[in-house]
Amino acid sequence: IKMDPVYLKNEKNVVIGSIINIEDITENVRLEKIRSDFVANVTHEIKTPLTSINGFVETLKNNDSIDVETRNRFLDIIEIESNRLRRLIDDILVLSFIENNENEKYDNVNLYSVFKEVYDITYNLAENKNIDYIYEFSSKDIELKANKDYIKQVLLNLIDNAIKYTPENGEVSVFVNQKKDEIKISVKDTGMGIPQSDIPRIFERFYRVDKARSKKIGGTGLGLAIVKHIIISMGADISVKSALNRGTEFTVTINQ
Ligand code: ADP
Repeated sequence: IKMDPVYLKNEKNVVIGSIINIEDITENVRLEKIRSDFVANVTHEIKTPLTSINGFVETLKNNDSIDVETRNRFLDIIEIESNRLRRLIDDILVLSFIENNENEKYDNVNLYSVFKEVYDITYNLAENKNIDYIYEFSSKDIELKANKDYIKQVLLNLIDNAIKYTPENGEVSVFVNQKKDEIKISVKDTGMGIPQSDIPRIFERFYRVDKARSKKIGGTGLGLAIVKHIIISMGADISVKSALNRGTEFTVTINQ
């Protein structure tokens, strides 16, 4: 609550009353907190790889005698960290684009053909880990009115995660079903799963389950925040079922 009293005075300058403007700013404070937390997180996430890149560049510049093997190891780290920075900036740009452009573009989107585009991008990732990549559509003609780029981004982020968090020789499946006006898209994996206590938080920006395990796998912690934002802007719904070391299933439900 914010109070700014305005005093009413008579001609002799004696206060005879006051006006208090009462405004509920709880929501503003909450939004401001989210914004400043976001900036703090972004700053931290950008600083970490930059510090590492700077450190290794300095070491390389100041030591002529570094052997080739060590030099290459340092260069690899610089490359990995630069890629991490690029991914982070890409994700931040996508998130801010979505926030500023609420679903205003509508196309007739054919789900099968959008999925095929995603399949072409993600196929190699699955193959490299010898993961069975299965997909099943109740029909190849399922269409919905939506922003095609957004649908593609949702599929890409969910499938990319499914492959990322599934060990070698596992299975990733995509099921798309339409019943009357309801379309269900499910992305299922046989991976490491998510602890029940973390499930409510995975859609938060920068939230990553078990920092150590996630850091090794790589990611920005923004993928699911982007998914959630798109799902809300479409008036759709997303749910998660997961069992540790057995697998995870994300289901998107869209009512046309
Ligand atoms: P990240 O870039 O870390 O993958 P996301 O926002 O996409 O960020 O996901 C947030 C966290 O949720 C991940 O760090 C991971 O711990 C967990 N997660 C997401 N998808 C899966 C999945 N299919 N299996 C297991 N854990 C997952």
